[in-house]
Amino acid sequence: MRVELITIGNELTSGEVVDTNAAFMAEALSEAGLEVPFITTIGDEALNIEDSLRRAGERAEVVIVSGGLGPTQDDITTSSAAKALELQLVLNRQVLENLKKRFAERGMEMPVSNEKQAFFPQQAEIIPNPMGTACGFIVRRRGRIFIFLPGVPRELKVLMGEKVIPFLEKERKEKIAVRSCTLKVFGFTESAIADLLKDVKPGDFSASLAYLPRFPENHVKIIVRGRAAEEAEEKLRRLASLIREKLQGRVIAVDRETLEEIVGQLLRAGGATLAVAESCTGGLVAHRLTRIPGSSDYFERSVVVYSNAAKVQMLGVPKELIDRNGAVSAEVAEKMAEGVRRVSNATLGLGITGIAGPTGGSVEKPVGTVFIALASPKGTVSRRYQFMGDRDQIKTISAYTAIDWVRRYFLNLLSAFSSRPSAKTD
Ligand code: ATP
Repeated sequence: MRVELITIGNELTSGEVVDTNAAFMAEALSEAGLEVPFITTIGDEALNIEDSLRRAGERAEVVIVSGGLGPTQDDITTSSAAKALELQLVLNRQVLENLKKRFAERGMEMPVSNEKQAFFPQQAEIIPNPMGTACGFIVRRRGRIFIFLPGVPRELKVLMGEKVIPFLEKERKEKIAVRSCTLKVFGFTESAIADLLKDVKPGDFSASLAYLPRFPENHVKIIVRGRAAEEAEEKLRRLASLIREKLQGRVIAVDRETLEEIVGQLLRAGGATLAVAESCTGGLVAHRLTRIPGSSDYFERSVVVYSNAAKVQMLGVPKELIDRNGAVSAEVAEKMAEGVRRVSNATLGLGITGIAGPTGGSVEKPVGTVFIALASPKGTVSRRYQFMGDRDQIKTISAYTAIDWVRRYFLNLLSAFSSRPSAKTD
């Protein structure tokens, strides 16, 4: 079933408001296995709205429209729809009563302008909107279905999920079950992921894959179709596990999970605590880890040791080591990790030192050079990275990489422990 989307509002065409409704609707529809080949955005102009509705109705079986259902003069979607579909506008007494009641409950009299929100094209099926004054509605016309929804994103999301998707699933002739999941990958570029997955044939699982860059992660979205829910779920499970295997432990989280949640779960399960010594990340690791409620169970502290003096005074990094190797070096990162672990008595100590730029780079250590070290009961390891991007991106990817080291440590994926013979042990 082909579904077209039309989003309406001058604030969208002027660029003042980003069209999140179209993105939300398109994603919800594709997750339900419905194709969206066309999205139109138009301003509050009656002739353009009428024209877009007619054209969309020629191409698609279903047209979903958002915005312009409000009480003000520029909200003209309903009247334009009536014109385009050649239907009369009629008063819906029930909706009018509800509107009046809504205002009365707040001790107010309904403004006259709101009355227009009780008028709908003939035979429209009303979609009640418990969150606002603008009800949605559905009109069937010449074998097509037109669905109108309020523009307020919070309201549109609820009505899409509770009413529109179930309605379209019933309307769809071919009965299929669709299941999806998003694998969040960190540490591989989009093209590296595509390379690693080149032998995976989504068609064998009645599936499609989408690659979505979500800095600093790359997401792989899997959408699977089946004749029944169990079949779709089984195919999704098999394909997701095949992809996880191909991506060699780089899938850091699934769907709504975050890296920080996963790391928190691993620390808690291991009865371990974490302390961090941050230089170039300036406290970002601490910020990210402490976004998770309950992180005090395992997050011990982070010290921002930005200056050389701080590294020496607070963590006992030898001054000669900094003089000899520079503050951005494997040796200093390791001493930072060991120092913060020692002073805090945490199970694990992370150290991060690098050059976020845009200045401060050299030929030997260009902007983006970052050393990460982990001090643990198994010993201390470090690694040099060369990250790309602006200052914020380098800080973000450094913090993310450091946090991911903790995940990899617990899952025995940290190759540094096996590849570095000099790793010292407790
Ligand atoms: P209401 O009467 O409840 O305001 P409405 O259907 O008239 O509903 P609009 O006036 O078009 O909705 O928009 C309401 C709010 O939602 C505005 O703040 C608008 O900027 C925002 N909005 C509208 N369409 C979109 C969209 N496609 N993406 C993101 N925000 C949107």
